[in-house]
Formats: sequence, structure tokens, C-alpha cells
Amino acid sequence: MKIGIDLGGMSAKVGICDGSEVVRSAKIETGRDITFEELIDALKVTLESVAAGEDYDFVGISSCGFIDRKGGAIVYSNNIPWKNKPFASEVNKITGKPVGIANDAKCAALAEAVFGAGKGYESVCMLTLGTGVGGAFVYEGKLTEGSVYRDVDCHFGHMTVEHEGRLCTCGRRGCLEAYASATAVMNTYREITGKSLTAKEIIDGARLGGKAENKAVDSLVEYLSDGVANIVNAFRPELVIIGGGLAGGADVFLDRISVTVNERIFGGSFLPVKFATAKLGNDAGIIGATLLESV
Ligand SMILES: [Zn+2]
Repeated sequence: MKIGIDLGGMSAKVGICDGSEVVRSAKIETGRDITFEELIDALKVTLESVAAGEDYDFVGISSCGFIDRKGGAIVYSNNIPWKNKPFASEVNKITGKPVGIANDAKCAALAEAVFGAGKGYESVCMLTLGTGVGGAFVYEGKLTEGSVYRDVDCHFGHMTVEHEGRLCTCGRRGCLEAYASATAVMNTYREITGKSLTAKEIIDGARLGGKAENKAVDSLVEYLSDGVANIVNAFRPELVIIGGGLAGGADVFLDRISVTVNERIFGGSFLPVKFATAKLGNDAGIIGATLLESV
């Protein structure tokens, strides 16, 4: 058995897992103002109650923000009021078990690659299309590691797909995130019509044949195909998994993406890349955390 902790901006979920099955779990409502010390105290109690006397040999942490995976620290998150805290070593102190930590998008990708849509594949890229665009590359069941902090790789959302294009949340222009996130789809629709709809409303409208909605989806398909083609040319995964809020509308755009990407990648006609949508739900963070390596 292994324990996974999924730390978000407003709560922390703790689950004890047997493979991909979350056997027992509990939630700590942290709010945005909890101190690091208060969180560790609360975790101590919750870890004990979730373990319920059962033996476990690892604790994995999935956290929002920018993580120093090597040092086991949450360096910074705009959802958490503290910085540079040695989270992994504190959890190791209260449990006596080896601890691993990574960013939540990466943990979700790891879970999907190993137990979800990527089960049985050797190399998998996942793209999470939500408020922003996150991602990870998983090879033989392990996350790739960038240098120094080991968590600064695979920021697929910030690759340029339009020179001098839309302003991105990172301050640069023309990033994939500014064209292929749920937020971007809403912005595209607003540019076309002057009206505001949610990404889900736009996808639903496109499904029913709405003209403006389909134009917004066309734009998504164009830019996302370029972005994914770049990713595939760099990593050559066997499978690309699309997750996040927009994945709910994959029936409207994923087949088109698959065709377009395979036209645009190097050698796509004889070695096409496959596509799938994420299968695991809200427990992907906890499950993925249990698959991490220790700090
Ligand atoms: Zn950016």
C-alpha cells in the first residue's frame, strides 16, 4: 500500500492506495490562509486515520505550484500563502516513510500514463487543457526530469505557436496556452462574436452546428494541432492523452486533431501517433503521487 496526498489551493486530499485503487481517503479543508505548520499538524492526524493501522511503504505528494522535486520543496504557488517549504522532509518526519513530490499536472499525467488511458504504452505525452495548458512526458512509467529543480520541463503550454500573437499569462506572446486552453476558446469566441460563453457552452454549440462556435473550435484545432505536432516531433510518444476540462468536448475536436497532427508530424504517414482522452477522474493526483520516486 502507498499513500498519496493531493494538495490544492483550498484543500488537501489524502488517500491510501492499492495500485490504482484508492482504498480509503479523507479531505482536509485548508482554505487559503493555513500556515505550513498547521498543514503539517493536520496532515499528521489525517495520515494516521487514513492508514488506519495498515502498513504502507511510500508517501507521494501531488501539489499545485512550482516544485523542487529534488529538494522536496514547494518553491512557490499562487494558491498557497508560503514559499520554499521543505514539505517532503516534514512528511518523512511524521511518517518515517520515503516521500516523493511533484506538480499536480505531472502526477495526473503519471497516473493516466500508467493506470489510465496510457496503460500498456511505453511512452506517453499528456496535455491538460483547462484554465491553462499543462503537460508531462512519461517514459516507461516515469516522469522526465528537467535540470536543477527537475520540475521545469514539459511546460508545453508555453511553446510559441503564433509569433507575436496573443498575450499569455506568462507575459510572453503567442503561447499554446493562449490559443488552446479553455480560457483561450472563450477568448476566441469573444473575438468572433463580441459575446461571452463558457468553453462548455461553445463546445456544446459547435456540436449542434453553431457557426461561430465551430469557428472557435476550428481555431482550437489549428493551434492545438501545431502545438501537439511540435511535442510529437520532440518526444515521439506512442500516445497523446488529452485531459482537463476541454477533454469533455473531445468528441467535437479530437478526431480532427488526430488527422491534422499526423499530417503535420515528421513521418506521420508511416508512424502515426495515437490519441486518447484521460480516463481517471479526480483521484488521478493521489494515484499519480503514489507512483513518484522518493526525494
Ligand atoms: Zn506563456
